[in-house]
Amino acid sequence: MSRPTLATVSLGGCEGCHVALLDAHERLLDLLAAADLVHSPFSGEEEIPENVDVVMVEGAITTEEDLRRLLAARAAATTLVAVGSCAVLGGIGGLRNLDPVEEVTATAFGDAAGSKSERLPRLRRRVQPVTDFVDVEISVPGCAPETQLIVDALTAAVTGTPYELDRRNLCDECPREKQTLLEHSSEFVSDSVVALMELDEIDEKRCLLEQGLICMGPMTREGCGAKCTSMNVPCRGCMGPSRMEFEQGAKTIDALAAVLPAGAIMYMDDLIGTSYRFSMPVSVFPAAYQHEGGEDA
Ligand code: SF4
Ligand code: SF4
Ligand code: SF4
Repeated sequence: MSRPTLATVSLGGCEGCHVALLDAHERLLDLLAAADLVHSPFSGEEEIPENVDVVMVEGAITTEEDLRRLLAARAAATTLVAVGSCAVLGGIGGLRNLDPVEEVTATAFGDAAGSKSERLPRLRRRVQPVTDFVDVEISVPGCAPETQLIVDALTAAVTGTPYELDRRNLCDECPREKQTLLEHSSEFVSDSVVALMELDEIDEKRCLLEQGLICMGPMTREGCGAKCTSMNVPCRGCMGPSRMEFEQGAKTIDALAAVLPAGAIMYMDDLIGTSYRFSMPVSVFPAAYQHEGGEDA
């Protein structure tokens, strides 16, 4: 019996998810023993072949070319695996949805934007996750996802094994001690909001939110093994919400208002950028934009 075929495609992203896959090192050999790699950004061919058993897509839909290539990938694939927060949630580039595309282009390309250069990418009006256009069989959020998550998802896809990530919050897998975070109390969890560099000393064991650091663990899906909080760095929410119907950014603002002293979040720099860093394109903002008469493409 012939081995299943595997292809990987990069859309509107930074290719960091492919780098995370390459980080698998010798574990890649096991994956490549189970499937024939027939196409990737490193293979040189532009177009994905027809009829591929498993296609991994990385990146969001930011240009017309991204959309054309996504539809080609979907048409070719028996199993489509969306990898990374760009593909699953729209990702960090989706913060540009806050501004008109003309302003974004002018900021990025300056005078060249007005010259109608053929070489500039034709940006769609807003960044969207691949799931806005096609069905996907497996989703792996994260920016970039943990290498093992990508390997596990692709291995499951090529072997036809069911795959689904758990859906608890990151706090459930975070090893830091929660003294007050999980208690029902009228007291605030922290009496101030501080940046990491403002702390004279960090308690290596205690919950970061309880120390006044903005940590998005309560609003974020588990699965990364609490990678950042284990290294004394607050979670930025790259795994997205534990359920797609949750508004991760609004939940963040709501939760911070509940656990921090009154008015504290008013003094946070870039509250929207912090709360919606990876999930702006799947938030209520696109719907609000369309309601105001914005176009999709
Ligand atoms: S999810 Fe993160 S690492 Fe992956 S393509 Fe997007 S920005 Fe890059
Ligand atoms: S450090 Fe962050 S992820 Fe860990 S328990 Fe506290 S809020 Fe949750
Ligand atoms: S701790 Fe948060 S930001 Fe860090 S990898 Fe996990 S989900 Fe992403």
